[in-house]
Amino acid sequence: MSARPAPSWRPALLGVPAGDGTVRCELCPFRCRLPEGALGSCRVRRNRRGTLETASFSTAVAHLDAIERKPFYHVRPGSRVLTLAPPGCTFRCDYCVNHRLSQYGREDDVPWTGETADPAALVARAAAEGADLALSYSEPGLAPELTLELAELARAERIRVLWKSNGFLTPRAVDLVAPALDAVNIDVKAADEAAHRRLTGASLRPVLDAVERFRAAGVWVEVSTPLVPGCADSPERLGAIARGLAAVDPAMPWHLLRFTPDFRMARALPTPPEQLRRAVDAARERGLRFVYVERALGEAGRSTACPDCGTVLVRRGVWRTLEHRIADGACPGCGAVVPGRWRE
Ligand code: SF4
Repeated sequence: MSARPAPSWRPALLGVPAGDGTVRCELCPFRCRLPEGALGSCRVRRNRRGTLETASFSTAVAHLDAIERKPFYHVRPGSRVLTLAPPGCTFRCDYCVNHRLSQYGREDDVPWTGETADPAALVARAAAEGADLALSYSEPGLAPELTLELAELARAERIRVLWKSNGFLTPRAVDLVAPALDAVNIDVKAADEAAHRRLTGASLRPVLDAVERFRAAGVWVEVSTPLVPGCADSPERLGAIARGLAAVDPAMPWHLLRFTPDFRMARALPTPPEQLRRAVDAARERGLRFVYVERALGEAGRSTACPDCGTVLVRRGVWRTLEHRIADGACPGCGAVVPGRWRE
């Protein structure tokens, strides 16, 4: 195994000692039972002398992004987020465009190039930039300890913390982090268990449960679905996901992400724009009111229209807001409510 500059380890939350030196981790639904010295399936949590430890106080990036890039389209359009990416992911998706961060510990030739994440310094920088904080690119669900420390410091500065997550968390983990989070964009990558397991190596049910549990806790939730070939690329499969999301809340924003070849799927083809157009139509037919495509369908794919009168209320370029007309959470023309966290 090649040497890599590993992140440092710190005590972790959600470890349950079994009394025989093993520790059960209750962060994600794998619930790894770890003997002394063992790493979890995620490779960023371990049992060290009977204590659960995490490698998540490290970040590969610390840069400013438009909030639209996460993507969040119903959260303070035009605002900026200081984005962080701790190592690791619970999933092993073959298409992952961020596999050099997410697959840390699994791919021997991938060194960790991140730096120690200092919550106080990161919050101070976000405050100086007038930005919120976002954890993205890898799996923030593996960094509840960092998230809680950031949120604790950020609260005094009126800075919010947001996640782009795979949602693969235990109910206990959701309850732990929800009070620290303003918004979460969760990937729902498949319509059924078999396809989700094939793509990610994990069950779909906990992800759907997390969507509902975060919402019930008052966290703003948007959902993303990458159109991965053979998994979520047909109108039938996407329609089934849309039906499930509409049953939770037809006003929940849904982002359809164009598949781009990468990692072990470098030879697959990108999603044709026509396929994305059909997916948008299928979603609207199932009742979803806010369906978005970032690039392939131009400005129309990124705009927010009033669900009642059809007036375009938010116009977006790629990763920026061009016009924002929502007033007091409603359409200024007909008064229809447009759910979101639109202003400060
Ligand atoms: S977070 Fe990691 S160690 Fe904990 S249960 Fe999940 S895979 Fe296992």
